[in-house]
Amino acid sequence: MLGSVPTTPKSLEAYRDIVGDDKIEEIRDLARDLRGARVLHINATAFGGGVAEILATLVPLMKDVGLDVDWQVIRGADEFFNVTKAMHNSLQGMYIPWSAEMFDIWRRYNTLNAELIDQSFDFVVVHDPQPAGLLHLLRQRDLGLAHGNWIWRCHIDLTNAQLDVWDFLRPYVDEYDAAIFTMPGYVKDDLRGPHIAIIPPAIDPLSPKNIDMSIETVAEILREYKVDDGRPMICQVSRFDPWKDPLGVIDVYRLVKQSVPDLQLVMVASMAADDPEGWSYYERTARRAGEDDDIHLLSNLNGVGNIEVNAFQREATVVLQKSIREGFGLVVSEALWKGRPTVAGNVGGIPLQIENARTGYLVDTTDECAERVLYLLQHPKEANEMGERGREHVRENFLITRNLRDYLRLFNRVKAQKAATAART
Ligand code: UDP
Repeated sequence: MLGSVPTTPKSLEAYRDIVGDDKIEEIRDLARDLRGARVLHINATAFGGGVAEILATLVPLMKDVGLDVDWQVIRGADEFFNVTKAMHNSLQGMYIPWSAEMFDIWRRYNTLNAELIDQSFDFVVVHDPQPAGLLHLLRQRDLGLAHGNWIWRCHIDLTNAQLDVWDFLRPYVDEYDAAIFTMPGYVKDDLRGPHIAIIPPAIDPLSPKNIDMSIETVAEILREYKVDDGRPMICQVSRFDPWKDPLGVIDVYRLVKQSVPDLQLVMVASMAADDPEGWSYYERTARRAGEDDDIHLLSNLNGVGNIEVNAFQREATVVLQKSIREGFGLVVSEALWKGRPTVAGNVGGIPLQIENARTGYLVDTTDECAERVLYLLQHPKEANEMGERGREHVRENFLITRNLRDYLRLFNRVKAQKAATAART
């Protein structure tokens, strides 16, 4: 068996006051025919990054509505995660020369992981490219174990995917019954096999990262990390990764600081288990930050977890997400849900969350980003109104209940499709 990830139980009822009766009843209706269905989610890491964040809530909520759900994580060593990070980067449009050996490593670890699957499920949701080969390799080993409905959930933007890497991956993905993408633009035209579903991710308003927090607790956390709550602060929470542009964040801070000398910057970056690039980017960011005491580079290694992230996002005068590529950017919804004015890169799924000048600002360059941040710092009333509109936009579109509903709809659909095919044959 692959490693199973424990989750904290959650109750759908707890979300009724936040999303309203209709949404809760719709979920209960959709779950009725799926009661007892055995579901397995598989991904590459139990901690760090958006996928782990979503599964930590989606899995217990699926259980709460009556499905029998497990979340398992594939195994791998550095050589595998180096290759999967390169795969992630090249699928997001960075050119990386690929060798036969790299493809071999990916296949070898997928084969090893397929050997660890020892049960069959009604629905298997495989997240992202790292474990995408499992279905094919399991079918080669044991058709019976692979008999359920297999769904590939792609969280990344494939628009500019490097062709040889996508050509390598595509036949594996083609075997799935369904594939989920965040936006229609991410779907590759030559993916013919699976039924395509468009489901953007979502955040959990009741998780420790997003739940309301008292002013006293926020102040205490800021004090603990020597961030002054009497001075303006901008904040970005992201892995140290080229696509999140941490160096650009420091440049923005420096530009704005010329006009707002007491400005502080908090950058939070957890080191994800499947992200070997994190350390080298951390070092580059630390070098650019230099000796400036108003720049706080924090991570899980300083004890910054969900509650601390919640406090920093909540207290930020402006939240930044200066991404240059982004699958969705959960952090944007997290900031908007806290009513914070947010300035973010105009890429990937971010424009779904930010309507420019209404629920935040979308930017393309460092100068533009600095200009918008400065404007918001100087216009607090407008900034707060923007944050409020952002919160309502997230309530309507990007809370976990909507994500759960979409998964249940898809499960029902895939199940009906299989039954119809079986009836015809
Ligand atoms: N996150 C965190 N601590 C960090 C960095 C990220 O808790 O130091 C969380 C962040 O709050 C969000 C998720 O990890 O919930 C990142 O998801 P997103 O979609 O923004 O980016 P990804 O890392 O998946 O590319």
